[in-house]
Order: sequence, then C-alpha cells, then structure tokens
Amino acid sequence: MIKVNNLSKEFHEQGTSNELLAVDHVDFTIQNGSFCALVGESGSGKSTLAQLMCGLLVPSSGEVLFEGKNISLCRGKQKQVLRSKIQLILQDGKGAMDPRFTVYQIIAEPIRNFRKLSKKEEEREINDLLTMMEPPEEIKLRKAHELSGGQQKRVCIARALAAQPDVLIFDEAVSGLDVLVRKHILDLLKRLHQERKMTCFFITHDLDVALYLADRVMVMRCGKIIEDRTFHGSTDCFTHPYTKLLLHSIAPYLG
Ligand code: ADP
Repeated sequence: MIKVNNLSKEFHEQGTSNELLAVDHVDFTIQNGSFCALVGESGSGKSTLAQLMCGLLVPSSGEVLFEGKNISLCRGKQKQVLRSKIQLILQDGKGAMDPRFTVYQIIAEPIRNFRKLSKKEEEREINDLLTMMEPPEEIKLRKAHELSGGQQKRVCIARALAAQPDVLIFDEAVSGLDVLVRKHILDLLKRLHQERKMTCFFITHDLDVALYLADRVMVMRCGKIIEDRTFHGSTDCFTHPYTKLLLHSIAPYLG
C-alpha cells in the first residue's frame, strides 16, 4: 500500500525569487492490486508527484509511506530495495536505456542488481519477459536506438518487471506512440495488472486512456487532487466542473 499524507513539493522558480507549489497538500492511498489513473494537463504536477512517490524527489512537507515506511527516510540497502519495489516507466523509452547496452543487458541489469539468479535462470527469465512482451526473439541483441517506439516501451516494461516490483508507475508512458501500438501497450498493461495483480499508477493527460485502463481516476490541477473517483464504466461519478469539461472534450470519442 502507498499512503500519501499531506504531501507538498515546492520549487524555486528560475530567474525569480518566487516559490512554485508543484504539489499542494495532496492526500490519497493506493491499495495493493489496484489500477489507478492520474489525469491532468501539462504542468499540473503529475510528474513531480510520481517522482515523490518513488523517492526520486524529497517532499517539502508531508510524506509518502510504502508498506508503512517513509520513502524519503530510507537509506542504503532499504532505499535500494524500495527502488526495486516501485518502478517508474517514463515517456522517453530510448532516453531511459543505456545506449551502450543490448536489450538483453538492459533487462539483465535489475536482475543482477536486485536478485540472485544463476546465468541459466537469468536467461530463462529474460526470454520469458521478452516472450510476454511479444517482440521478436532477435531484438535481444539490438540496442535502444535500433528499436521502434513500441519496442522501446516494451523493453522498458520488461526491465521494470525484471526487478519484481510491487508497484508500476507509468508517467505518460504511451504518449507519442501511434494508435495501434498504443492500444497494444495499454492491453499489455491491463493483462499485467490482471494476471500478476500488479499495483498500477498510470499518469496521463488523456482522460479517455485513464477511463479505458483504470478502476479509479484521480484528476490533478494546479498541484491539487480535485477529484478522486472509483470508476465502474459510467462517467456519472465525476462531478467536478473541470472533469466535466475534460469529459465534454472527449465525448465524441467515447461513443
Ligand atoms: P506535469 O507532469 O503535470 O506536466 P510537472 O510535475 O512536470 O507537471 O510540473 C509541475 C510544475 O512544477 C510546473 O510548473 C513545472 O514547471 C514545475 N517544475 C517541475 N520540476 C521542476 C524543477 N525541477 N524545478 C523547478 N520547477 C519545476
């Protein structure tokens, strides 16, 4: 379980003496095994929140608890273990992979860092992950720049899974992909969630993607969570005027 308590993050605005409250006193709990989407326009604080949730940023105030432990107070081995348990998958797949490494080495890295597997077990695990991701066998020896956008995304997901995480956080992970590839990746995430009971936190500026994926939708605006609803297929649950405006803008695509 992830518990976010009264969490805020302030940045110093460049070139001014102003402070900017990117995340503004946010509270919520993510239950194990849930699929939660966070929607908001660019600059609303989504990425900052994601980085706070996996300990890449330190809060200005408040706390993030993972299984009862304050993430920003973890040090040394505990911090390493935590990093492996909460995996962040970013929009820029290529930028997130070491250009010197082959796909095999990229996926092997978390296995070697966090798990003790024999060479044979490692190879079997990487083959299984690649098979689940459905790219052809020969991509194992390619490097990041030799992969398509969809393949890069699948490899990033495979690498995240190789660490055996409890939580996957996707930050605009399907933005920029063409619609068919995007649909494949979204269906893969749905499958992962259902089959592996993974806790998923999916950040997007597309409300339609959030509604397609998640059983809970949170809406963020100006650093605050302005709406937080369990979603069972009907958009009647949303009541905030801003969410209604977003719904209105995607109405032609919802059918
Ligand atoms: P989103 O992911 O919703 O697009 P971000 O979390 O990236 O929003 O950004 C929220 C606000 O915080 C924006 O105004 C952004 O410019 C600002 N911001 C984000 N990171 C930094 C930083 N490292 N330094 C200063 N301002 C930042």
